[in-house]
This record gives sequence, C-alpha cells and structure tokens, in this order.
Amino acid sequence: MTRSSRLRRALAAGALGVLPVLVSGCGIALGGDDGPAIQVYSARSYGAEAAYQRFTEETGIRVEFLNGNDAELRERLQSEGESSRADVFMTVDVANLALAAEQGVFRETDSAALEAAVPEDLRDPQGRWFGLSVRARGIVYDPDEVDPAQLSTYEALADPAFRGRLCLRTSTSAYTQSLVASMIANLGEEQARAAVEGWMANDPQIINNDVEIVRTVGAGGCDVGITNHYYVARLMAEDPDLGVDFFFPDQATSGTHVNISGAGVTRSSDSPAEAQRFLEWLATTGQSLFVDGNFEFPVNPEVAPVEQVAAFGEFRRDPINVGELGRFNAAATQLLSDAGYR
Ligand code: FE
Repeated sequence: MTRSSRLRRALAAGALGVLPVLVSGCGIALGGDDGPAIQVYSARSYGAEAAYQRFTEETGIRVEFLNGNDAELRERLQSEGESSRADVFMTVDVANLALAAEQGVFRETDSAALEAAVPEDLRDPQGRWFGLSVRARGIVYDPDEVDPAQLSTYEALADPAFRGRLCLRTSTSAYTQSLVASMIANLGEEQARAAVEGWMANDPQIINNDVEIVRTVGAGGCDVGITNHYYVARLMAEDPDLGVDFFFPDQATSGTHVNISGAGVTRSSDSPAEAQRFLEWLATTGQSLFVDGNFEFPVNPEVAPVEQVAAFGEFRRDPINVGELGRFNAAATQLLSDAGYR
C-alpha cells in the first residue's frame, strides 16, 4: 500500500487519532482511487476544494489534503522529517514558509512555468516556496468621516488627527508582525518605533480579528483601521451598504505591504513531479479559481482579480522580497512589546 492510500484509508475509517495535530478539519480525498496522488498539508481552507477538484479532473492527479494552521503543520512536518506523507506544504502567510524553508522542510523546485507566473518578489530565490495569491494590508475607512486625501502611509496614522479614531489588529497576529517588519525594513527601526508609539498614543481599539475591524469601521466605532483587503472586499460583497472603503497606503513611498499564501514541494515527497505540476497549475490555469473565492489578488500578472477586488483599483506593492520580512520579525515583536502594543 502506498503511503497515500494508507492515509486515505485511515481518513475514510475516521482514524484521525493517528493525526492528532490536524485540528481544524479533516483530510478529504478527491477524485477516483486510481492514478497518482499528492498529499497537501494546507493551512488554507477557503475555496480550496473546488480548485483541487478541477486540478484532478484536468490532470488525473488526485489531491488529498490535511488542514491545520500554519505553525502546527510546520511543526508537524519538521517532526515527521523524511517519513512525512506530505508532498506539498501550503500556508496563508510568508513567515511560516520562510521558517519551513530554513528548517529544511522544502526541496528546491526548478520550474520555468513557476518562474514565469510568480513575480520574483513573491517567491523564494532558491525555489523552495512560491507565492500563489497576494493579500494587501491597507487601510479600511469610513468615507463619511475620512477623505482619502487625508490618508497616505501606515506611519501617518500616528498623527494626532487620528486620536480615538483608530482600529488595529492585535500584536500577536502574523499580519501585524509582518507589517511592522516591513516598516522596520523600509523606515529603519527608529522611525518604525516612532510610528508604532504614535499609533499607541492615539489610543486605538485593538481587535483580535480583521473582520471585526472592518465591521467596527462600518458601524462607526472607528474611522480608520488596518486590515487585509480581502476582508473588505468580501464584507462589501455581502453588504453593499457596509459603509466602508479601502485605501492602499504608501503609494508615493515604499508601496503597500503585501503578504502571500503560498506553497512548496517537500523534501519528503515521493511524487515531486506531480507536486510541482500542482503548484504550476495553481499559478496558471487554476489561478482564478484559487484566488477568487477568497477575494485575493492573483500572483500571476496575466490573471485579473475578481470584479470586487479590481474595483479597489491598481496599486504598487512594496518590492521587498516577502521572504525578507522574516528577518525582521523578532525585531518587530520586540518593538511592539516595547511600545505597549497589546
Ligand atoms: Fe486572513
């Protein structure tokens, strides 16, 4: 029995006891029982099934996936080592891809198709991981209270004009840490520190959830907030009267901070060719199906975003390689703590 079919049978039998770390869902086998299969350890749940199903229909390669969060799956991969069943590890944030790469989880993938489809700043220079969707972290605002001409950069939210008007995400969020890491990379530590201290001096509401940040701005509880664009697009699609709009910061300076959802082929994979084909398909033919359900931006510049996201307009992203942000993560965490950012 192959390790894939072994896992499939275990899952079919409900034998999740052997997979204790897989918390937020269970593995699902798609497609028939014949032909090659790949195992995807995935922190991405939204809309993935439709894309995986289509990939199987088009290629005959079955996709079995196991859900968990980024850090849990990464730790699991690390402890499983060479005996891991995983062929692909997929995360919703770059920090865990970069850490997994450092820990030797990935093999180097040499793919002309991926190099053509994924811009250089959104993939590992050594080919260990590739961005598959882009999430822009920007400013959600109440257009009744804020003229977008009053908005410019992340650090400008430290202006006393925003006192008592600001909603921010918790410091423990990877989104907050990556943003502050990018500010350290672009502004230097001293200016980044002044900006974060300025945010705190504006007495922000700290909220543990981007969706709640968007809703709070919509309900008039804050005039501005920092959030990922896809939450705004999704909530606006659900409720056209939400009463918020989205602004891309730093267009005249370093560019808007972006993060990625991405993946790489594992060192332990016994089907690296099929795993590579899966990543290539997600970055090309399957790109819209993969990103649209979650209102993300495609990584592939040849692919247009879904209508509600296109409506935000074009923007210039921070050109730093997203993998570089990991180098500043510890400094960002320390800075947030020093500034009294909860
Ligand atoms: Fe998110």
